[in-house]
Amino acid sequence: MTDLIDIGANLTHESFDRDRAEVLLEARAAGVRRMILTGTSVTGSVRALELAKAYPGQLFSTAGVHPHNASGFDAYSGDALTGLLAQEQVVAVGECGLDFYRDFSPRDAQRHTFREQLEIAADTQLPVFLHQRDAHDEFVELLRPVRDRLCGGVAHCFTGTAKMARDYLDLDLYIGVTGWLCDERRGGDLLDAVRHLPLDRVMIETDAPYLLPRDLPKKPRGRRNEPRFLPHILARLAEAMSRSLEEVAEATRRNAEQLFSLPANQTDKDCNQSDK
Ligand SMILES: [Zn+2]
Repeated sequence: MTDLIDIGANLTHESFDRDRAEVLLEARAAGVRRMILTGTSVTGSVRALELAKAYPGQLFSTAGVHPHNASGFDAYSGDALTGLLAQEQVVAVGECGLDFYRDFSPRDAQRHTFREQLEIAADTQLPVFLHQRDAHDEFVELLRPVRDRLCGGVAHCFTGTAKMARDYLDLDLYIGVTGWLCDERRGGDLLDAVRHLPLDRVMIETDAPYLLPRDLPKKPRGRRNEPRFLPHILARLAEAMSRSLEEVAEATRRNAEQLFSLPANQTDKDCNQSDK
């Protein structure tokens, strides 16, 4: 299985500070050729872009403010994000959205920050990388009126029910599936929801270093999730959808290339050279 795209990896996380280059090599060896680094704050988005620039063609990034960090969003943040979004490696606005599960930022600040980023996405015509937890109804209410002005988006780390998936599909969004699917304790509703997802709407992501799939045959030391485990998530998704691995791999790659307008994959040649 080659040429998978991990649409959500937090590779600027400090847990990768000691062996980031190796993690990227292992990802490539596992067939994960391209990754999109998630930006969760202005500073984090700058760091994600810097890392993406160091690995052209292999790494891309998003620029946005996560709802957890919404209370720090100000006029400067919007301008800073717009500046980052002008860079060719930055392929989406986000992650942005609402998180009423942890409420790390007051809900009003979350709403404001989400709205502002939706406007930025409409202005820049870049897709949105969406985060939502325990806020589904309000999230959909905020999105719906602006949806026509957005060029597209993905509901990243989807963990909801079949009904929630339908709401996102009605908004013509893509659905990002993580290792959450591999957790038998909480994956029941999710399994049910992904079963009927249309092939042309699914993407896969590890959310590394978070969300280590629970059913990996061999647990890595430190329980850190890594992009190299993406094929495992792909296998679970294909199983849940009763489709072949190849079919789902191809669909998730095509969907990510389309939504994020990724350039044609040029890493093959470099890859052969550096693997020697
Ligand atoms: Zn998220």
